[in-house]
Amino acid sequence: MNISENIQSIRKKLPTQVKLIAVSKFQAIEKLQAAYQGGQRIFGESRALEMRDKHLQMPQDVEWHFIGHLQKNKIKYIAPFVRLIHAVDSADLLKEIDKEAAKNHRIIDCLLQVHIAREEHKFGFSPDELSSYLESEDWKLLKNIRLVGLMGMATFTDNQEQISQEFLQLKTCFDQAKAKHFAQEDSFCELSIGMSDDYHIALACGSTMVRIGSAIFGERQ
Ligand SMILES: *Cc1c(COP(=O)(O)O)cnc(C)c1O
Repeated sequence: MNISENIQSIRKKLPTQVKLIAVSKFQAIEKLQAAYQGGQRIFGESRALEMRDKHLQMPQDVEWHFIGHLQKNKIKYIAPFVRLIHAVDSADLLKEIDKEAAKNHRIIDCLLQVHIAREEHKFGFSPDELSSYLESEDWKLLKNIRLVGLMGMATFTDNQEQISQEFLQLKTCFDQAKAKHFAQEDSFCELSIGMSDDYHIALACGSTMVRIGSAIFGERQ
């Protein structure tokens, strides 16, 4: 398993404007270092303390993306340095991120997670909840966060048609949100969809960020 080669071969399949997030959760620091040597600069983690510790061990120019379900009491560990929080799944969480960002004199970029999978256990706003939350304009009061797009996860299934429909549903949510609330905001431009097994589908559905773990690093510990 050559991490650099995996990264190069995935990059070749991505249009140049699509960002590759190397999902390094549960992987040893040596593997992240190998990816860094191979030119990778964006890493995704799903546990706050693990990300904080890895951040301390890796070079300063790494861009850290938090991709998992974030607990409110853990925001403080990542607020000083996190570059993008992908999976903001409630209005309350967004408010708390705003507070921690303010304490650090930062503006933290966030994506709202939308529940598109036909599975109960995945987190996120439903498409209706998303519309009414954006409509409420409560988020406009939060001065230390910036909404830059949407994120979602498809159902865990082999059914490619279903995955594609779910991603397209999210793309529709994105287009509507953009037109209604962010038409003037060039920064609202990210659609974070696609993982190791479905990123080829996500690319066809308008993905701007793919979050890839096992196809780069192998199976997780
Ligand atoms: C673990 C994880 C990934 C990466 O999954 P792979 O199948 O290993 O590519 C992507 N996104 C989220 C939210 C994850 O939790």
